[in-house]
Amino acid sequence: MTSRLVIVGAAGRMGKHIITLVEKAEQFDIVAAVERADHPDIGKDAGVTAGLKPIGIALSGEFSATADMAIDFSTPEVADSTIDYCIGNNVALVMGTTGLSDRQYKKITDASAKIPIVYATNMSVGMNVMFALVAKAAAMLGEDYDIEIIEQHHRFKKDAPSGSALTLAKNICKATHRDFPGCLVHGRSGAEQPREKGTIGMHAVRAGDITGIHSVMYATLGEKVTLTHTAHSRDTFAAGALRAAQWLTGKKPGMYAMADVLGI
Ligand code: NAD
Repeated sequence: MTSRLVIVGAAGRMGKHIITLVEKAEQFDIVAAVERADHPDIGKDAGVTAGLKPIGIALSGEFSATADMAIDFSTPEVADSTIDYCIGNNVALVMGTTGLSDRQYKKITDASAKIPIVYATNMSVGMNVMFALVAKAAAMLGEDYDIEIIEQHHRFKKDAPSGSALTLAKNICKATHRDFPGCLVHGRSGAEQPREKGTIGMHAVRAGDITGIHSVMYATLGEKVTLTHTAHSRDTFAAGALRAAQWLTGKKPGMYAMADVLGI
């Protein structure tokens, strides 16, 4: 069965990656490519904007009346209208946009009583596996191993530490009964800064065009274990979003995470 897709934020960096992958997949049909009404490419073919051959769908400010699923990688300001559209038209939703407010998080949670939703701020399959692994490693290694999280991103990234670094820390804290975020120590400087047992160091590097590297280091006297995830390109997030869309097809209403999609 072919799923009819609405891509929201279709001319954005993620939107273009997603259109490119969808066009290679057989089980999806793009029926609308939504962009802000004043985007300079409105009216142009969405495939051409993504660097492909024409796909016969023009970038538009309007959602499609009939669709099975929406994939939203846009901005938090757009999320409300995407959720309203999905509820109003019984359309499933893969929401990848980050930075939703608490009110929007509640709205999307309420919406999941009516429609199936995958919401994840990091759709990379490898990163979601790492979210699970870091908790297990922390619990297995025990309290004598100091934990430090080091994340690296491109020079344009606005927030620090990254949302994914915080999720890594949160999962470790849950597995080891640490206080989150109370046990986090962000960077270190100064003379009298001995390491306090049980804390987790958080370090953010911003340089060049690094897509995203997250390392969790567990070190004790005599050895060190390091788990690292490296995102080579945005394709990894787009591939995860499509995997989520495939998994979500035909699911009952509910709020699902990438862990559900991956069965971990
Ligand atoms: P981007 O700025 O390149 O793209 C956003 C697009 O949304 C732009 O083309 C913009 O014009 C469009 N937009 C703005 N207003 C709109 C409207 N009213 N209707 C429709 N489209 C509108 O950003 P990006 O790098 O593609 O990232 C988009 C979002 O996805 C961000 O929130 C980012 O943090 C998030 N993201 C999530 C993951 C993940 O794995 N979940 C991965 C990467 C990025």
